[in-house]
Amino acid sequence: MTSLNPAPLSPAPLNFEQKLANYASLLVHVGVNLQPGGKLHLDAPLESAELARLIVRAAWEAGAVAVDVTYTDQHLTRLMYDHAPESALDYAPAWETERVRHQIGEGYAFLSVSGTDPDLLAGADQGRIARRSKVKAQQGRAASERLMAFETNWSVGAMPVPSWAARVFPSLPSDQAVARLWDAIFAVSRADRPDPVAAWQAHTARLAEVKSHLNSRRYHALHLKNARSDLTVGLADGHLWVGGAVTAQNGVTGVPNLPTDEVFTAPHRERVDGHVRASKPLSVRGSLIEDIFMRFESGRVVQATASKGQDVLLSLLGTDEGARHLGEVALVEYDSPVAQTGLLFYNTLFDENAASHIALGLAYTLNVQDGMQPGVAQAAGANDSLIHVDWMIGTPDTDVDGVYEDGRRESVMRGGKWSF
Ligand code: ZN
Ligand code: ZN
Repeated sequence: MTSLNPAPLSPAPLNFEQKLANYASLLVHVGVNLQPGGKLHLDAPLESAELARLIVRAAWEAGAVAVDVTYTDQHLTRLMYDHAPESALDYAPAWETERVRHQIGEGYAFLSVSGTDPDLLAGADQGRIARRSKVKAQQGRAASERLMAFETNWSVGAMPVPSWAARVFPSLPSDQAVARLWDAIFAVSRADRPDPVAAWQAHTARLAEVKSHLNSRRYHALHLKNARSDLTVGLADGHLWVGGAVTAQNGVTGVPNLPTDEVFTAPHRERVDGHVRASKPLSVRGSLIEDIFMRFESGRVVQATASKGQDVLLSLLGTDEGARHLGEVALVEYDSPVAQTGLLFYNTLFDENAASHIALGLAYTLNVQDGMQPGVAQAAGANDSLIHVDWMIGTPDTDVDGVYEDGRRESVMRGGKWSF
């Protein structure tokens, strides 16, 4: 006898083209959640043209009235550091900031595809890099403050350029390395699912539960302990936990980072004490920093070492006073999808989702109640700086307690997993 209603076959795995189209669609519909009549600005590396065209197509199909793309060539950055005169490092034309300022005013959504060679700036002059980074940070400061306050919605995705893929899979030929990195990106971004938008709705709903639990507790500090770290991170007054989806001031709810598995808030810049050791290398400014160790007193880094890239680390810390204080503490389960890949991506968008982390530098105003009003975040103890650099500290043996002002404690994480 045969059944009239045979059990459905499990769906065939998607091919590359389908996954790439899913990914483009996720960036448009979940990342920036582009609305009919919306406007989109896309920043993308030259190598990502195939993905960029799919994004543009998805944007038009979503009913966008304006879509523009800036293609970037990372090699031009290296050419500048190696060959341009000092005066060029200090030059920042006004039209660049004008364009962003104008587009924010016009309500554009901003989508950025990251894809750079982690070794792009290896061996380049650190002094010149620091000088240029500071000029660019100062130039872009007003616009980036408005973006970080989510005046409009924005999102970041990625594209495996060959030099980056070669760093992640050094033993594979270039085309296989790129294919493997795509597979990893599709998996952690849920683009390999038959209905990726529904998968993201379920995921952001779970992050929302974690956020609302932590926001209901009003902890004074977090105490994070594992075999290599013992760190108390005081939290800013009126701090807010954020993660997953964010509703921008224009009312559009998007997901600023694809993937994202973190919930994060603003530390108090003067209430961080103890010592902490990185659980993964940090890829920053085209260099790799390994085995970071830091000791904090009253919020300030008083000792910082690294077994590799210590000059880059010290140059970061020397940016300004705020670079020596924390602007973010983020909790991520030790077995998150990114962690499960077992890969080091050499890209913060992915690596920060592999482990709980802290960031040196600027705090997000959205991590403080009414933090977008002038002076409020500062008064609450949120940090200010020209840099914001996340580095990973979480491990499978990490315990985190929430500590109330009167010293009472509650368990937040045990063995790197939520425990409330
Ligand atoms: Zn983070
Ligand atoms: Zn961060």
